[in-house]
Amino acid sequence: MLPSPETAEVIRRELLDWYRKNRRDLPWRKNKDPYRIWLSEIMLQQTRVDTVIPYYERFMEQFPTLEDLANATDDQVVKAWEGLGYYSRARNLHSAVKEVVANYGGRVPSEPETIAKLKGIGPYTKGAILSIAYDKKVPAVDGNVMRVFSRLFAITDDIAKQSTRKKMERIAEALIPDSAPGDFNQALMELGALICTPGSPQCLFCPVQSVCHAYREGLEHELPRKKKQKPPEPVDVIFAWLICAGRVLVEKRPETGLLAGMWGLPTFEQVPGETLEQTMENFCDKKGVPASNYQVKGRLEHIFSHRHWKVVMIQAEVSEPDFPLPENWEWVKKEDLRLRAFPNVYRKALKQLI
Ligand code: SF4
Repeated sequence: MLPSPETAEVIRRELLDWYRKNRRDLPWRKNKDPYRIWLSEIMLQQTRVDTVIPYYERFMEQFPTLEDLANATDDQVVKAWEGLGYYSRARNLHSAVKEVVANYGGRVPSEPETIAKLKGIGPYTKGAILSIAYDKKVPAVDGNVMRVFSRLFAITDDIAKQSTRKKMERIAEALIPDSAPGDFNQALMELGALICTPGSPQCLFCPVQSVCHAYREGLEHELPRKKKQKPPEPVDVIFAWLICAGRVLVEKRPETGLLAGMWGLPTFEQVPGETLEQTMENFCDKKGVPASNYQVKGRLEHIFSHRHWKVVMIQAEVSEPDFPLPENWEWVKKEDLRLRAFPNVYRKALKQLI
């Protein structure tokens, strides 16, 4: 059910007033440049504001304009993203920015249908860019907004469901004011980030408490409802640390799947029923690597959204460095490893290995 016109009016007025007094001074709020807003929205997906700020500032320093980013190499972009995780975000952003320069004269499209076709831009990012940069009345419903709406209107539907998101988008459409739609969308997100927080909603300080159903009914800690997700699947993985005269073999991962296109150490799954050494030996044989002296050098665990890697790092000495390298493998001097962009799981491994 949509909010009544009176309730909608209270929400707009109180929320905008609160936001204008309490908004955080964040680097992407300095102006309405769509490129700056786009970058911030992509970095903020699944990542906390405090973590994003230094990355954002460094990234903007390195690629101050859309053209600078479009002209960068994939490796430069991934290196600038190093440590932020979810690297497909960086790769999609890079490819979409190149498309904007090639096909739209370097101007981020302001039409919903056009911007939605760019890689990595889903309904939320589309709404955020269009409303904040171009003052368009387009909803931007993220996790924060879903939580606020669930509580404000006592919506008990599972927020992981697409149908619930659609419902929330219809509510947002009914609420967005003609003036300042960008401020309104940001005010909702800010309320979710600062007041209507997941664990401890600060209802006493909330600007929309007077119209909040969850507060009135004492449900603020029960909502939102979300079906428990399956825990990430555990996988036993081996990282091969293949060394020869101060150099190490690194591998560029396949263009699809987990950590697509990223540099890493040669990586493969432990075969059930085999010892670590057998799996490592079979892997080296299959790849044609003349390796010997296998030794376990360390262990670590890393959790992705759907996988839980239990990693063993195995060192082996390569006797003959000039063997034909498998595709996407390279020798790198140990001291040059820091120049490559490695995702976190490999950086953790390298910390132990070097
Ligand atoms: S009153 Fe409490 S539950 Fe309701 S929107 Fe505000 S902080 Fe959230």
